[in-house]
Amino acid sequence: MVLQKTLLAASRRPGLRRMVTGNSATRRVVDRFVAGETLDDALSAVEALAADGVRVTLDHLGEDVTTRTGAEHSRDAYLAALEGLARLGLGDRAEVSVKLSAFGQALPGGHDIALELVRPVVEAATAAGTTVTLDMEDHRTVDSTLAVLAELRTQHPGTGAVLQAMLFRTEDDAKALAVPGSRVRLVKGAYNEPPEVAHRARKDVDAAYARCLEILMAGPGYPMVGSHDPSMVTRAHELAAQHSRAADSWEVQMLYGIRPDEQRRLAAAGTRVRAYVPYGVDWYAYFVRRLAERPANVGFFLRSLLTR
Ligand code: FAD
Repeated sequence: MVLQKTLLAASRRPGLRRMVTGNSATRRVVDRFVAGETLDDALSAVEALAADGVRVTLDHLGEDVTTRTGAEHSRDAYLAALEGLARLGLGDRAEVSVKLSAFGQALPGGHDIALELVRPVVEAATAAGTTVTLDMEDHRTVDSTLAVLAELRTQHPGTGAVLQAMLFRTEDDAKALAVPGSRVRLVKGAYNEPPEVAHRARKDVDAAYARCLEILMAGPGYPMVGSHDPSMVTRAHELAAQHSRAADSWEVQMLYGIRPDEQRRLAAAGTRVRAYVPYGVDWYAYFVRRLAERPANVGFFLRSLLTR
């Protein structure tokens, strides 16, 4: 827990980044979780996953932008990504995930800026026959992100959201979003949240995840089970059977590079599986969150530092 808090704090500071960049061994650890720095790298990863029957949501890395120009850059990067995906002709088997903090959400007047700049991305996705999912960031952004979602869904009902089981509010949000056509990715939550708003103990987060999963799987929406946890994936299959869900009415989502064999195995066995594929030069905060999630990843990373 102490290591996790330290790493999550480090995800907002550039020190570790300097240590990793330029070191080929640590760079290989980053490459395990990030598909590359360019769109072409990402599209190659998408094609390889698609060949294995694994769907994709593409994430252009970047968050916490501090200028409108930076936010416009995110919009343009996503428009280019959607053009690239359209060329692959995968339809909704390849969509995109966006962080509204990359679209200016934290700027003064940021809610409106993020909505203005993400709208053309959602329109381009609809035109390409695919969808956008709004990632969820720390708890202070949830109201704004859900309000942007509600606005976008009036014209683009396939726009998806993420709910973080660790937040106390999430069971109510899950009930509100368990409506027809609603795409909701349920995750445990990757941010270092205070005890006033979130479960902190792993067993409490897991119990909350299971409760939210029941709400979403029982409802008429399209649940996206965002977890590598075998017990949550098994529970999702049990609930799908219990509620007579068709195989195309829900999916499992995992991160690029995490349990890739299991992703392929589930897909081959008939479960819809989607990998979350991050790419871009701004990989640092994403990478450190992955280290914080799993002590084994930190060990792997530290060993690579020693073998430089
Ligand atoms: P954990 O509690 O981390 O792990 C449980 C078990 O899963 C482990 O005991 C192990 O059996 C297995 N496992 C986990 N990792 C590995 C591994 N590397 N190798 C082998 N087995 C492993 N968080 C947000 O806050 N906002 C988001 O928008 C967001 N989007 C996400 C999108 C996707 C597709 C996914 C999968 C996660 C996303 N997350 C997001 C991260 C999420 O909140 C968790 O931090 C992350 O998924 C770790 O939780 P877990 O459910 O995988 O289980």
